[in-house]
Amino acid sequence: WFAKNHPGYQGGPFVYFSTEFGFHECLRIYSGGLGVLSGDHCKSASDLGIPFIGIGPLYKHGYFEQEIEPDGRQQHFYPAYDFSRLPIQPLLGDDGRHLTISVDFPDRAVFARVWLAQVGRVPVLLLDTDNNKNNPADRPITGQLYVSGREMRICQEIVIGVGGVRALQALGIEPACWHMNEGHCAFLGLERVRNCVKGGMGFADACQQVAKNAVFTTHTPVPAGNEAFDTGLIRKYYKHYCKDIGITLDQLINLGLSSPGQGQQPFSLTVLALHLSTFCNGVSQLHGHVSNDMWRHVFKDLKPGENRIQAITNGIHTFTWMGYQMAELYDKYLTPAWRENLMDELFWKRGVTHIPDKELWDVHNLQKESLIRFTRSRERAHLARHGASPDDLRSVEELLDPQALTIGFARRFATYKRADLLFRDFDRLRAILKDPERPVQFVFAGKAHPADKPGQELIRRIFDISRNTDLHGHIVFIENYNMRVARMLVQGVDVWLNNPRRPHEASGTSGMKAPVNGGINFSVADGWWCEVQNPDAGWTIGKAEENANPDAQDHEDSESFYDILEDKIVPLYYERDANDLPVEWIKMMKASIAAVTPRFSTARMVRDYTEQAYLPAAKRGGAVTTAAEQTW
Ligand SMILES: *Cc1c(COP(=O)(O)O)cnc(C)c1O
Repeated sequence: WFAKNHPGYQGGPFVYFSTEFGFHECLRIYSGGLGVLSGDHCKSASDLGIPFIGIGPLYKHGYFEQEIEPDGRQQHFYPAYDFSRLPIQPLLGDDGRHLTISVDFPDRAVFARVWLAQVGRVPVLLLDTDNNKNNPADRPITGQLYVSGREMRICQEIVIGVGGVRALQALGIEPACWHMNEGHCAFLGLERVRNCVKGGMGFADACQQVAKNAVFTTHTPVPAGNEAFDTGLIRKYYKHYCKDIGITLDQLINLGLSSPGQGQQPFSLTVLALHLSTFCNGVSQLHGHVSNDMWRHVFKDLKPGENRIQAITNGIHTFTWMGYQMAELYDKYLTPAWRENLMDELFWKRGVTHIPDKELWDVHNLQKESLIRFTRSRERAHLARHGASPDDLRSVEELLDPQALTIGFARRFATYKRADLLFRDFDRLRAILKDPERPVQFVFAGKAHPADKPGQELIRRIFDISRNTDLHGHIVFIENYNMRVARMLVQGVDVWLNNPRRPHEASGTSGMKAPVNGGINFSVADGWWCEVQNPDAGWTIGKAEENANPDAQDHEDSESFYDILEDKIVPLYYERDANDLPVEWIKMMKASIAAVTPRFSTARMVRDYTEQAYLPAAKRGGAVTTAAEQTW
């Protein structure tokens, strides 16, 4: 795609920094949606043939592995990964040895080795400090993803930002555009400023120069989700830097303050990234609006009505999330050309009409059976770990009914995602789920951050309901949510539930993964779902507005949830024709496939980034005219 559409491009690669990358469950350097998005971004950049390099940390322990105790408590495990057994390789320097770069800390250097994860055509450079050139106290800097200690966190983010710039330098790569995916990697901007100042520029000019070809994507409208540090930590870790380039600490700190000169504030990496980039974006149209309101004060020269933050809606890497049975069905009826027409809305709209109802239904049910088998085996292993008897383990074979309407809910257990919304009126829920003629079952999965006690309480509550109430069998919780569990779920469920408190879900992506498999969304009007034009592609919970009173909003949304489930979803699913096919349901499956697959793919998203952000940035940075050699 890139060679065809931008044949004259001669600049360097676009580099993409992220603190997490979700490529596959075997490389556990992701925690949730942000990481999966980064991974899908790289995969589509590869598919489209874009000159692109990913950069991030290689965590020794990654994110935690979750086990649920019999009483529902979440346990955290941090296995140490043997890098030699991961699908990565040491990146060798000119001397043929493992490339190691150094990052200067206040009174010492910290060394990071550079590893290569080759993702299709896209190289991803991963940095790790767990090597014997470092003092044992520095080796765990890249130990855990989202480490809870604030000082360790800043060390980690300095290693990513500064180390990433140095790794590129060591490899002789001159990027044409620098993309900061979320604020965590914003220190890269300061490192680039240092290089400009060393090259003879003044500090203010250097900041401007760096911003020209930098792109920043913000991912959360929840204030606590925006990384910020106590200014004391910036003073500690950036004192030598300021001395080095001849500026005062206050000059530097002002770059990260929301309202400089107005009292005590933390140093925000989002504000730093906004200052050191030209193109900034949110990850859905609604999130773009919300972000503009949220960060308007940072842009002093903004006229009323003028917006600095654009919107590029997220997507998913279609091939990663589509089940192989479904892919074969598309091969048969849309022809294998669907693989080259991922972003073509008309192609999909026409294509689905060629699929016979019965075949779509059968393939969907095959994938659903895989999910049920998978769920049973996970449940059996879980019970066995807690000492259940052979008879108890045998009874797991009855868990989940392949004929029953099956709804999935899986994501990080952040409280704004309201995993327990459906339990607000327990009696009403019970009546719907336990209807003997038309039963409904839910499969849940998700991890709560180790420091998020309310999130862990949600898990405990849902787990308890799944085990100790009469909803046993209708509510199932699969432990240790990861990309594998996500794949099984989105490929097998009939309906995907998404009920965050609007407008807190910047985009959400899990709901995009179900339709490519014939699943249908049941979602609050938030994030990406607001952009789905076809009302027949799913069901919308509540109204497209916010309520100042969160409890009232929860109440309204839950009432809407029950009403739609009871009046629309259940009847439609169980209404069969003479051949036992739910014809109207299948019609909706097709509408869901056609409305979501082309529009919410990372193919479309990466194309948008390339044309709206990367190429203009490269041009501003002057890289397009200098024919940089392709060193990757
Ligand atoms: C897709 C995905 C997510 C994102 O889910 P949201 O519903 O968008 O929050 C999180 N974790 C995993 C493992 C995923 O595959």
